[in-house]
Amino acid sequence: MFGLIGHLTSLEHAQSVARELGYPEYADQDLDFWCSAPPLIVDNITVTSVTGQKIEGQYVESCFLPEMLATRRIKAATRKILNAMAHAQKHDIHITALGGFSSIIFENFNLEQFRQVRNTTLEFERFTTGNTHTAYIISKQVEEAAKQVGINLSEATVAVCGATGDIGSAVCRWLDAKTDVKELLLIARNQERLQDLQAELGRGKIMVLEQALPEADIIVWVASMPKGVEINPAILKKPCLIIDGGYPKNLATKVQHPDICVLNGGIVEHSLDIDWKIMQIVNMDVPARQLFACFAESMLLEFEKLRTNFSWGRNQITVEKMSYIGQISLKHGFRPLLV
Ligand code: NDP
Repeated sequence: MFGLIGHLTSLEHAQSVARELGYPEYADQDLDFWCSAPPLIVDNITVTSVTGQKIEGQYVESCFLPEMLATRRIKAATRKILNAMAHAQKHDIHITALGGFSSIIFENFNLEQFRQVRNTTLEFERFTTGNTHTAYIISKQVEEAAKQVGINLSEATVAVCGATGDIGSAVCRWLDAKTDVKELLLIARNQERLQDLQAELGRGKIMVLEQALPEADIIVWVASMPKGVEINPAILKKPCLIIDGGYPKNLATKVQHPDICVLNGGIVEHSLDIDWKIMQIVNMDVPARQLFACFAESMLLEFEKLRTNFSWGRNQITVEKMSYIGQISLKHGFRPLLV
């Protein structure tokens, strides 16, 4: 059995979904109510691989909302993640992906030290961040979608916003090792971590966002922002490929311009329909087939009976692990979402 721990993108989103899913007692409630709401299993899932293998899974809604971070309700946010993990373990789920902000909260607030959740001792090998698969899929989206929009990587400047993050740093490693990309622009707030990444890669220009955007042919957004930012399309190069891998999206509104292509980042398409409700709820374009790459990672680990925390800790994703998860992703019928 695999599991997915997820959350919704805002209080407004959560209220409308609660109504749709038949939880009217959650629908009209404010943020304080969501802060105290327990985790819920809201979907039972069957996935069939193109190899013919079938696996079963469950979606655990943690009831975390990004507003909890924005309003500094940190205790509530951390409790949501630990409770959702304990809930998954109590339901005997073998391998569960920590979707969206779940793994970010786990790392940023050192939740590894809080192993005991009431009468459950968390077994961390039952969880994976899913970030290796996400980083692999975003890297492939850069390679393949660039071709689709006529950008040659050997002449291209790629700006990675969130470059020092778990996913961002892995994407930088892949682009450096596996492609002939001309220039990497590294964007984040903490300068020390940027310098460490630059030293590790032996390349890359450290830049602030406003400086980097007009220079980039491709922009990869993988910053952990609880709310998206607005960008003015007039300042961007034409053509420009934007891969928005954030959840919630890093861009507040869709950039509308014929020469600017915005792609949903970190999303895979499965070759066969998946029987579930949850991707409809997060407004996926083709909900029966499209899903977050991190969720797909727990499915892949279950298909391969690799019941271990394949992606764990921060900034430890190697190009070799990305290649490996990429191979099993293809084997079971997943492919990156393209233009
Ligand atoms: P991390 O917390 O590891 O990294 C976040 C990065 O963003 C860091 O480099 C951080 O650096 C930077 N950052 C944060 N805020 C800002 C800001 N305001 N301006 C510039 N840089 C910023 O996160 P992950 O790598 O785990 O996740 C990144 C994103 O990907 C998240 O939105 C997450 O929800 C999403 N995600 C998508 C998945 C999918 O399946 N599609 C799966 C998992 C995650 P600094 O703090 O120094 O600024």
